[in-house]
Amino acid sequence: MTISKKTLKLSLKSLRDFAKKQLPDQVLMDLDARDECPLEIIHKMCDPKGLGIQLLFIPEEYGGFGGGAFDVYCVCEEMAAIDLGVATAVLATFLGSDPIFVGATPEQKKLWLGRIADEGLLFAYGATEPEAGSDLGLLKSTAERVMKDGKIVGYKLNGLKQWISNGGIADAYTILAATSTGPSWFILEKGAPGFKQDKPEDKHGIRLSNTAALALDNVYVDADRLIGGVEGQGLNQAQAVFGYTRLMVAAFGLGGGWAALDRAIPYATKRIQGGAPLSEKQGYTHKLIVPNVCRLEAGRASIEECAERIDAGEGNLNTEGAIAKYMSTEAGNTAAEASIQALGGYGYTHEYMVEKIKRDVRITTIYEGTSEIMEMTISRDRWQLHLKTRGQYYHDEAKKFEQMHAAHPEVGANIAALASHALAEVMEICRSARLTRHQHILLRLGELIAYAECAGSLARRAALMAEGKLNEKASQRFDAVGLAAVSRVFARDAALKVAEDGLRWLCGFGGVKEAEITALEEKLALPAIHHAQVGLMSDMDYVADVLFNRVAKRAAV
Ligand SMILES: Cc1cc2nc3c(=O)[nH]c(=O)nc-3n(C[C@H](O)[C@H](O)[C@H](O)COP(=O)(O)OP(=O)(O)OC[C@H]3O[C@@H](n4cnc5c(N)ncnc54)[C@H](O)[C@@H]3O)c2cc1C
Repeated sequence: MTISKKTLKLSLKSLRDFAKKQLPDQVLMDLDARDECPLEIIHKMCDPKGLGIQLLFIPEEYGGFGGGAFDVYCVCEEMAAIDLGVATAVLATFLGSDPIFVGATPEQKKLWLGRIADEGLLFAYGATEPEAGSDLGLLKSTAERVMKDGKIVGYKLNGLKQWISNGGIADAYTILAATSTGPSWFILEKGAPGFKQDKPEDKHGIRLSNTAALALDNVYVDADRLIGGVEGQGLNQAQAVFGYTRLMVAAFGLGGGWAALDRAIPYATKRIQGGAPLSEKQGYTHKLIVPNVCRLEAGRASIEECAERIDAGEGNLNTEGAIAKYMSTEAGNTAAEASIQALGGYGYTHEYMVEKIKRDVRITTIYEGTSEIMEMTISRDRWQLHLKTRGQYYHDEAKKFEQMHAAHPEVGANIAALASHALAEVMEICRSARLTRHQHILLRLGELIAYAECAGSLARRAALMAEGKLNEKASQRFDAVGLAAVSRVFARDAALKVAEDGLRWLCGFGGVKEAEITALEEKLALPAIHHAQVGLMSDMDYVADVLFNRVAKRAAV
């Protein structure tokens, strides 16, 4: 499933034009201050006769355009750049309909996906409960069979749901509740007797999104509201869409982070301090702007690769989705924080918007799986690969980067290779010293893996761009030379992080004896990683020149 580049471009343009008219900064600021969800605007966005943004995500056979994961990423990034609360309201419909998408019977799909396409139905996704957040196994909501003449005719739902996006405004809900044979998804419409929505939560950010608790008191649904018609499939169905849904939130982190930087960058060209624009001050650009851009683009590289692989039919890609979400949302958060600093006192006020973006983007490291859960997911999966390959997995990856370096010496693949080799060594010592029994080590490995893999993704994207083979829908923020410089900056960061943090955890958690530390520094190739830092300044200078449109000027000098 995928749409043409032209259709995607048109959809993105319509979205931008719609936002310009309906959601200019002042409107966003006022809604944020009033803590108000703009329901009418959200309905217009989902109205098939209006913007009809949800049509992009619905398969053609049910009346949509049949967009793929790459299209969804592009739309999510664009929506996040407009407003993350509104983006969340739209995302909730996709999240809410995902159990239907993966698990429903053909009749259920036709009915509910068809209604989303035709009527612009707003959905909510009801998984989280007061006592079941990261661990959905602690679910307490129940679905009790209602029998007639020995047949199941329906279910009675009871329980509480917490933090549900669109909770107070949705037309329909997918609700996870435990049947006698395990958790299952049910479709529930608003107004069902016994179904109550609480008042909207007063949140730190995404204040344009409605978030509410739900209460289910003996709410009856017919048996045909059990998604898939078979009990006990709920957790598998939720798992089956994680690669895809986490990709959407990854794109939110990316869009939010860039939205903040896209305000800081022009600001820096106009703000004169110390006799020149801030954009000319290296201590400013190389701290507040360039590293954030490089981390965001590393996140983008992992998003784009993951989306392409989902579209190519590789399945759910849970771990890759987790890496993309982890890197992009953490990067988005840091970029927005740095953007407040970049605007100084103005950044700290509502009027300049970066403060709102920072509050908004903060949610992306929490919902759809927290960053810590992402670290655990990534680490557990790649740990298995490390064991299965007897420690060779990341050495093998490194060899591929070394080959790439031979063909494309400019993309930093040699440094990505150093990161990958160092990671393999760190993981191997963790294995031999049984360090992953410490949860902190397991989760820190998740972070190092994300850095090493994103360095690889970015180098691959830069090489593809150099060959003119990058997906035609891929981001064009940088040209091949610029993306190669971004890749080199990030690869240096990743290699240093993997080796130095890795060494720290190994020493700190008793993985090596003191006498072995110097030899370990060699094994992790720390001297080579330090040598690889040579050239960092000119690469950062170049990235800054691209961002501040100085490349032509630099060439002329
Ligand atoms: C604005 C908003 C919108 C949301 N929208 C929806 C929605 O539409 N539908 C829905 O179902 N849910 C939604 N959620 C819920 C969201 O997905 C959960 O908040 C999230 O999964 C975390 O669960 P929790 O809040 O219970 O935190 P907890 O799971 O209690 O986690 C608290 C902290 O402990 C850490 N932690 C948890 N487990 C472990 C562990 N085993 N080891 C180490 N650290 C751990 C977490 O990383 C986190 O830092 C939303 C939440 C918010 C705030």
